[in-house]
Amino acid sequence: MVAELISVGTELLLGNIVNTNAAFLSREMAALGVLVYYQSTVGDNKDRLKEAVRVALLRSDLVILTGGLGPTRDDLTKEAVAEQLGLPLVEDEETKRAIAAYFKDQKKKSIPENNWKQAMVIQGANVLANHNGTAPGLLIEQEGKKIILLPGPPNEMVPMVKESVLPYLKEQSNEVLYSAMVKIAGMGESAVAMEIEDLIDKQTNPTIAPYAKTGEVHLRITAKADSLQEAKELVKPVVKELRKRFGIKIYTEEESETLEDVVVKLLLKHKLTLITAESCTAGLLTGRIVNVAGVSDVLKEGFITYTNKAKRKLLDVSKSTLKTYTAVSEQTAKEMVKGAAINGDADVAVSITGLAGPGGGTKDIPVGTVYIGCYANEKATVKHYIFSGNREKIRELSVVHALDLMRRCIISNYEK
Ligand code: ATP
Repeated sequence: MVAELISVGTELLLGNIVNTNAAFLSREMAALGVLVYYQSTVGDNKDRLKEAVRVALLRSDLVILTGGLGPTRDDLTKEAVAEQLGLPLVEDEETKRAIAAYFKDQKKKSIPENNWKQAMVIQGANVLANHNGTAPGLLIEQEGKKIILLPGPPNEMVPMVKESVLPYLKEQSNEVLYSAMVKIAGMGESAVAMEIEDLIDKQTNPTIAPYAKTGEVHLRITAKADSLQEAKELVKPVVKELRKRFGIKIYTEEESETLEDVVVKLLLKHKLTLITAESCTAGLLTGRIVNVAGVSDVLKEGFITYTNKAKRKLLDVSKSTLKTYTAVSEQTAKEMVKGAAINGDADVAVSITGLAGPGGGTKDIPVGTVYIGCYANEKATVKHYIFSGNREKIRELSVVHALDLMRRCIISNYEK
């Protein structure tokens, strides 16, 4: 099946909002094995919208529109699609009731008159319930083509896709899709792509799709087959090959598992306590770790030691180390991590000290220089990195690499 996405909204054309809906839908279509050849963005203009729908229907089997379903005069998607398909708009009783119930739930005394506009649907359309707003989605089948209209706000569109659109599209296909996930930490997208260039070049079924995240790359391996068993068999050797190529760099094969989940799981498994000591990331790492439910059984304390004085006072970093090697050095990272573990009486500690910029760089210590220390089994290890990017990116990369270093330290010290 070939799909085309049409994002509606002048705000998108002006660059006032980022088109996250198209990115989300493209990912979901790829995971379903639906091909997306075209995406377009159209402003709130009925004629141009009609033209976009006309062209999309010529070259695609499925057209998905997002946005412009609201109650205001510039929300024209429904009207444009109805006119283009030559279908009238009719009042939908069920949607009327849902709108009244939505306002009652929101404890609103009266319903704005223009909200009733949202109870008008394209004749013959299946109405997709909106549990997070008032604009329902619409699904129309005409002459072998499918047209789906979805609300613009992502918090309304995403649940509607998961609850109604994906199950519908899955039903349309005789083939079963199965996908596995391999998540790699500590490698950039191009390094991962180079490592699997041969696999990507010859891929047909299964396919390998890389998704780049900050400091991570996720590989989705998807196979199509007549049965689930067959699809799983197709995926298996590819995953095995990826394990062989990436080894310890793979931190999980679970779709929903994050790097911090894996770290906390390892700490819990080995009954280890943790202390963090952060300089340039100032709590960002601890915040990520605290995302994980159950972390209170492992995390004891987090030190934010931004100044030299704080590093000395809270972590016992020596004055001479700071003077001789500076705060951004292997020696400082080592003393920070040791000080944190000993002063906080924890089994594992992690330290981050670096220069996130944009100012302050020198020839010897350029912006992006980061030292990350990990203390486990009474030994401290320090790694040196030079990250590129802006201040935010450097801090985020520091956090991801710190999590990955902790994972590796715990595995090498406590597994087996
Ligand atoms: P509403 O019922 O809220 O009026 P709607 O279906 O008419 O919804 P729009 O008015 O087009 O949707 O957009 C409402 C808001 O949804 C936008 O201001 C924006 O915040 C968000 N939004 C719309 N389209 C997109 C998109 N493609 N990507 C990300 N956000 C979007």
